[in-house]
Amino acid sequence: MEIQTNRLDRGFYRYQAEFEEAALRVLRSGWYIMGKELSDFEERFAKYVGAKYCVGLGNGLDALWMAFRILGIGKGDEVIVQGNTYIASVMGITINGATPVFVEPDEYFNIDASKIEEKITEKTKAVLVVHLYGQASQMDKITDICKKHNLKLVEDCAQSHGSAFKGRVTGTFGDIGCFSFYPSKNIGAFGDGGAIVTDDEEIAKEMRILRNYGSEKRYYNKVVGTNSRLDEIQAALLKVRLEHAKEMNKEKQDVAAEYDKGINNPLIKLPGIREGADHIYHQYVIRCKRRDELIAYLKDKGISTIIHYPIPPHLSQAYGYLGFKKGDLPITEACADEVLSIPMYNGITEEEVGYVVDVLNEFK
Ligand SMILES: *Cc1c(COP(=O)(O)O)cnc(C)c1O
Repeated sequence: MEIQTNRLDRGFYRYQAEFEEAALRVLRSGWYIMGKELSDFEERFAKYVGAKYCVGLGNGLDALWMAFRILGIGKGDEVIVQGNTYIASVMGITINGATPVFVEPDEYFNIDASKIEEKITEKTKAVLVVHLYGQASQMDKITDICKKHNLKLVEDCAQSHGSAFKGRVTGTFGDIGCFSFYPSKNIGAFGDGGAIVTDDEEIAKEMRILRNYGSEKRYYNKVVGTNSRLDEIQAALLKVRLEHAKEMNKEKQDVAAEYDKGINNPLIKLPGIREGADHIYHQYVIRCKRRDELIAYLKDKGISTIIHYPIPPHLSQAYGYLGFKKGDLPITEACADEVLSIPMYNGITEEEVGYVVDVLNEFK
């Protein structure tokens, strides 16, 4: 049996008629950027997460750097973030000139809240929380710390659409929640897309200006902005995705439950869930000390896997200028050496899940 790590085609074909209707509706409308589909999607997405405002953007990285821009965080400022994240989280901080300060993750791959305060200096302006792999971070502790030290809180929700902590949906805890709609995300477009959500009317207004060349009124430019717009076709397709988001998250949770129940190989550590946190399994990430042997073994059995992520940002060539060396963030680096994402997607069959379980259990 051949099993890929992801199969986006299966997510498309399940709702094919609805996607095609949405795409055709936009194609035939004659209006392709900044129209009714976008404003309609923004309204629905804000409601979905429980925020007052949503502003659609070109992608998730833009959502991050534009959030820090609007919060006035840049050169000379420090932003606390977990070491084991996708590099886009860190670029969102550094594009404006701010410095990332890395904190080690806890056993759930999210920022270890008990290690945040020791990293706070007088330069610290914000915490960027990443709800990695789809599991909500420990938001009660983190919001308390931000309040106590008067820090801004930005959430990277690129992997956590709809995932909640104690009933409150990620993206609504801080000043700004940043989302990506990259095709493989739990709510994915058919191209690039992103958004921010906020309860602050002024932030939403400034974001709308910033995304469109700094203009509120056509050809009257208030600030040097950017071009980062979620186009009509993506917004229309995302409305279909959003309509089915709950059942699609549930389906992944059911697959995860099968993995949890079925995988019993002592060489493999399964992802745990923190009390009070939801996990929507953007990725199902296992750990194995002999990870590279496991990858080769699975490949031989027809099962593809991915490492999220093999090189932590502090050791990447891009961030060489920060001056980190191997050993500086041992827990983060152990994650990079041991994590493995196994097949997890909407439309994976029971037979495929059973095969993955059996093959993993036979690894010696
Ligand atoms: C995907 C992702 C991003 C970036 O989103 P793009 O839309 O690809 O720019 C940022 N942070 C995390 C954690 C992501 O997974």
